[in-house]
Amino acid sequence: MNADSVAVDSSLVAAEWQLTESGFEPERANVFETLFTVGNGRLGTRGSLEEGHVGELSGTFLSGVYDGYRVPVIDLVNAPDWLSFVVSVGGTRLDVQSCSVVEHERALDFRHGVLRRHTVFLDAEGRRTCLDTVRFASFADRRLCALRVEVTPLGHDAEITVTSALVGRRRNLERLPVYPEGTTFEPEVRWEKWARAKHLMEVGKTEQDGAVYLEMRTIETGINLGYGAVLQASQQPARRTVRKSYEQVEESQEFTVAGGQTLRLDKLVSIATSRDAVDAVKEACLETLRGHATAGFDASLDRSREVWESMWADSDCVIEGDPEATKAVRFGIYQLLIAANGDDPTVNIGAKSLTGEGYRGHVFWDTEVLMLPFFIYTQPDTARTLLRYRYHTLQAARELARESGTRGARYPWESADTGREECPMWTVDGANRFWTRDEEIHVSADVAYGILTYAEVTGDTDFLLEFGAEILFETSRFWVDRAERDPVTDRYAIKQVMGPDEFHSHVDNNAFTNRMAQWSLTQSAQVFDTLSEQHADALAAIVAKIGLGPQEVDQWRTVADKIVYHFDPDRGVLEQFDGYFALKDVPITDWDHNNMPRYPKGYHHFNCEDTMLLKQPDVVMLMHVLPDEFSEEVKKANFEFYEARTLHKSSLSPAIHAIMGIEVGDSTRALQYFQRSALVDLTNNQGNTEEGVHIASAGGTWQILVCGFGGFRVMHQQMTFQPWLPPQWQQIRFRLRWRGNSVQVAIGHTEATFCLEGPDGATEQILVRGEPVALQANQPVTARLAEVGIS
Ligand code: BGC
Ligand code: BGC
Repeated sequence: MNADSVAVDSSLVAAEWQLTESGFEPERANVFETLFTVGNGRLGTRGSLEEGHVGELSGTFLSGVYDGYRVPVIDLVNAPDWLSFVVSVGGTRLDVQSCSVVEHERALDFRHGVLRRHTVFLDAEGRRTCLDTVRFASFADRRLCALRVEVTPLGHDAEITVTSALVGRRRNLERLPVYPEGTTFEPEVRWEKWARAKHLMEVGKTEQDGAVYLEMRTIETGINLGYGAVLQASQQPARRTVRKSYEQVEESQEFTVAGGQTLRLDKLVSIATSRDAVDAVKEACLETLRGHATAGFDASLDRSREVWESMWADSDCVIEGDPEATKAVRFGIYQLLIAANGDDPTVNIGAKSLTGEGYRGHVFWDTEVLMLPFFIYTQPDTARTLLRYRYHTLQAARELARESGTRGARYPWESADTGREECPMWTVDGANRFWTRDEEIHVSADVAYGILTYAEVTGDTDFLLEFGAEILFETSRFWVDRAERDPVTDRYAIKQVMGPDEFHSHVDNNAFTNRMAQWSLTQSAQVFDTLSEQHADALAAIVAKIGLGPQEVDQWRTVADKIVYHFDPDRGVLEQFDGYFALKDVPITDWDHNNMPRYPKGYHHFNCEDTMLLKQPDVVMLMHVLPDEFSEEVKKANFEFYEARTLHKSSLSPAIHAIMGIEVGDSTRALQYFQRSALVDLTNNQGNTEEGVHIASAGGTWQILVCGFGGFRVMHQQMTFQPWLPPQWQQIRFRLRWRGNSVQVAIGHTEATFCLEGPDGATEQILVRGEPVALQANQPVTARLAEVGIS
């Protein structure tokens, strides 16, 4: 074996930087396929075994590659597979069905985005063979992926054949036919029961200059996907063959390997698509591949690792005193980092990122509200790119507004490549209508919230001028038309909506929707004023482009001032919507083994309408996103009232409850909510991790650490910290990018240290537990938390 091999020795990676699997369990295999996804924002490849297994749910997903061919709802395409690699020893295929598994360990290294595997197979002839693999998707060049395979026959000389394939014959899961309730299937046949959708057709395949090449095209959207691969072996093969079959091309190599010797193979892959600005997909792909092949596996990995190191320098979080918690938070950050492509402003992050087919790769409000804060404060350039997707889809949002009978722009509840509404009309069994697509109009205000937060934290006025202001103005126009003036009261109502709590549809004056609309109108008017003072010409160009009339900005203010707002002074609580307080107050009395509330008897997702039960926070979410707008007292009263009625049937829910609980001084369940959020996929506590990670929850977990335990808020444009740590934790550490500089934060029980990183002379005034703390560039300052002062 080569001395500097990077193979499977994962013991060198600190436990807090890796997730491990020990032994192969068919029942858990699909969950590990999700958890072990490697990616780089352009693509994600699920952590399936290279050789496959019966019952696998494998997939590679390319950001922005959607297709709607003969399906009711557009899919993120289960793209051609680059990973496929089969090893046969003396004619026996090494896989979990053909052999016994003697040892099986895998480790995902979050720090460098690498998945390592070590498996020892025992075949029917009694031969043991060890298979070690390493895989990654490069962050240094998003077009590259690589797999290293090491095969070691243990105590026998072996005739080894390896077969490395590019497989275009992929299908998306469509739906499971209706079976009697409670039907379960063996893990091996579970996915075979599903109807599938075909989205790809073959364009061609070739063998050229030692490489194999396969090109497929998405049937309806017409995107060409070119995959090239070379296979580099540590010894000369006795024979090399290339086989082309339907939608597949594969290369086999044959070797004789002595017992105890290791054969190493590097499969280097490049992927080009017609979405990239390339003239010819095949040429672009093969040219990239040549560079990849010349550099080789190790150099390519080194370059990718460097990018990972620099991303972690900005985004790492540490919980001193709780290594498991640190690991869970890092796992979430790893998932966020591989979800976003900061180079492509035409794509965003789907609800399951690039880790699975759940929600068909659609983009929701999850990005702006749950995930964007992480990117704004750690990778602001990526945050900018994510927001540019909303600009890319602005035209479609204008069209949706027209269809709804309003001016301006209305963002869809679910979107994909074009920004059209892609939310399904019905549940797959056809039994229930999804009103989300018609009524969760708050998403337009959430987009504005993302833009305004980004602009405030980064001071990136260019972004506002180029993209952001136009979106703010167009969504403001939508709200003005969507709100209805009551001539008697002279108030504006927003009727027939659904708030974030999806148990209640067709409601009027949902608190979250009305207040977010109001806030975004006021803020947009403010942006208009600021730009007219500081960038009059650029503003005039935007005004001319969208034909903004002279009275429109006044109208935004009028509607904002007069929007309906229900506050019950007796309870001290905002009413979630008109008539909410008159609904049945059904108590929650039952919790599952993860301590998550169960539906009260007789209730399910679609019949809680006439109760006060909530799927997820609505008023409490409002108070989280607009911390400046509500007093401590009001936040506390609302948290207490609504938390008791919330079933957390969305993975977005626990994080917000952790944060708001800490904020209002009810930290009793904060750690529990933190665990529910941080472990959502690691313990599969929503029961559907095999369909992909709950990426919004990863963003929420980061927010719990920073905004919950760290108590970080921007109040009146200033960084403020109101920290609280669970007794068993000693310290938390994180770093925030702020207006071009960074602030390193370390928070303990009695003191907190802040260091402003920036050019000499930079200063920042922050508030720690209400007391001002002056920061100067590169000089750490420690604030005592007990009786706040500076030591
Ligand atoms: C979600 C909705 C979504 C619908 C269709 C439901 O599970 O709660 O937000 O629109 O699925 O994708
Ligand atoms: C939640 C929505 C969320 C969607 C996608 C639903 O269950 O209710 O708020 O946007 O999932 O994550």
